[in-house]
Amino acid sequence: MHYQPKSDLLENRIILVTGASDGIGREAALTYARYGARVILLGRNADTLQKTEQAINQLNKQPASSLLLDLAQATPESCQQLADQVAALVPRLDGVLHNAGILGEIVPLEELDPQIWRDVMQINLDATFYLTQALLPLLLQSDAGSLVFTTSSVGRTGRAGWGAYAVSKFATEGMMQVLADEYKNRHLRVNCINPGGTRTKMRASAFPEEDANLLKTPADLMPLYLYLMGDDSRRKTGTSFDAQPGRKAGPATA
Ligand code: NDP
Repeated sequence: MHYQPKSDLLENRIILVTGASDGIGREAALTYARYGARVILLGRNADTLQKTEQAINQLNKQPASSLLLDLAQATPESCQQLADQVAALVPRLDGVLHNAGILGEIVPLEELDPQIWRDVMQINLDATFYLTQALLPLLLQSDAGSLVFTTSSVGRTGRAGWGAYAVSKFATEGMMQVLADEYKNRHLRVNCINPGGTRTKMRASAFPEEDANLLKTPADLMPLYLYLMGDDSRRKTGTSFDAQPGRKAGPATA
């Protein structure tokens, strides 16, 4: 995406990012902080989350806060407790980036272990729903809230072997559309980002043979991640955006 954000795009904005310990979520958290946001980091691993927090604090911008939540264990109650912790830190949320996710196993559905199906649905879908419900009151305190879900090209067209992950992303697209319609007359926009093949641990586990140097890095995707959190996207809702428009799904080729 060709988008040149103003350097103060996110000043006075408060944004929560899930999966902020690694990969795209870590980069998004750092980028939002660079553009002036106060960022709340969510993750399950205190050490890696702390590293993101330290990197943000070294920017000498707004300091970040970290909150721990293992989405594999998340319930409506634990997500409500998390929302209470957030409310004790900040008066509102102007943005939530649901980025955390797992791949599960790449095998035909016929062979997919039902426990892996449940784990993927719990982390990618159920916990995302519980967290969204719990955080909506804080988002509605914003004069222009932005709720962003993370999808995938296999969440739009099914692909053999992508099993529970693909189904969870189809459902994520559905959740985004339902919420966008429910809030279409309110000051909350709801959209999805499809990062497209990106150089992260998840991608390497899906395509171990691929040359990662042929892939975009998380930093390359940030124009779209910024656009959806800033005022320039105020009127956009109900859309599934591609961070790499035109990229063909599947392994990168030279
Ligand atoms: P990574 O595996 O690099 O990072 C995933 C993040 O999610 C990590 O911070 C991880 O935490 C967190 N996470 C995983 N499980 C849990 C859990 N149980 N509780 C809390 N946090 C958890 O993945 P990417 O950065 O590649 O992916 C980010 C998003 O983008 C995902 O939703 C993915 O589906 C999507 N996506 C990625 C693509 C790609 O090519 N990379 C392509 C299309 C979509 P921890 O560090 O503790 O493991």
